[in-house]
Amino acid sequence: MTAVHQRLEAEGLYRRFAGRAVVNDVSLSIDAGEILCLLGPSGCGKSTTLRMLAGVETPERGVIRVDGVEVEGPLVSVPPEGRSVGLMFQDFALFPHLSVADNVAFGLRGGKAGKRARVRELLDRVHLAQHIDSYPHELSGGEQQRVALARALAPRPLVMLMDEPFSGLDNRLRDGIRDETLALLKEEGTAVVMVTHEPEEAMRMADRIALMRDGRIVQQGAPYNLYNAPVDKAAAAFFSDVN
Ligand code: ADP
Ligand code: MG
Repeated sequence: MTAVHQRLEAEGLYRRFAGRAVVNDVSLSIDAGEILCLLGPSGCGKSTTLRMLAGVETPERGVIRVDGVEVEGPLVSVPPEGRSVGLMFQDFALFPHLSVADNVAFGLRGGKAGKRARVRELLDRVHLAQHIDSYPHELSGGEQQRVALARALAPRPLVMLMDEPFSGLDNRLRDGIRDETLALLKEEGTAVVMVTHEPEEAMRMADRIALMRDGRIVQQGAPYNLYNAPVDKAAAAFFSDVN
């Protein structure tokens, strides 16, 4: 019998700063091809949760599994590069001294031809093939963001972890890049955890939303469920601006 695993599972994540629990017993799981948005107001513990999933922050308690393999637990702590996670954060920071092609190829292994083909494929899909030999400073913010997406997806990570990836972009660009990102993530079949403090963004991108407050997940479900049946008044107020 083959065991079927969720792509990413976290159980009972717990982390304090200065004696205060900022992530307090958070559990979640995501399947391949699914997008989970961690949504909540500033300071509720979203980024700390994501950083623990990525392996750049260590939980005091809790277990994390990728494809059924424990990467964080009482006896293990696999570093980020061993977790098959792709990371995309707000300050997407491409390597300034590397070309677009070399940025996208950065995490790739294998032969030159294979790497080149994968870089080409991804740049085509984010409509930047013409910039393959450009340098980051020659690109607009939106273009840099698309290169960062291509770079994160290039090694085919099982899980993509994104922290407010569009918040640095102006409104005019944001919608288009969100849609393009969504399409690419779905094509790749990656499991995604995306952090956002904007209900509208979560409604638009998520298959499932986990609403956080004070370090805890207070409600989890399909976007329309949270919108139509908020768990309490505070949750209702949080969604009231979405139209
Ligand atoms: P969010 O991403 O939801 O805005 P964070 O996870 O960044 O929230 O932060 C949650 C709380 O933990 C905040 O009060 C923040 O100030 C605190 N915090 C986060 N990282 C640290 C740290 N390295 N040292 C001390 N406090 C921190
Ligand atoms: Mg944050």
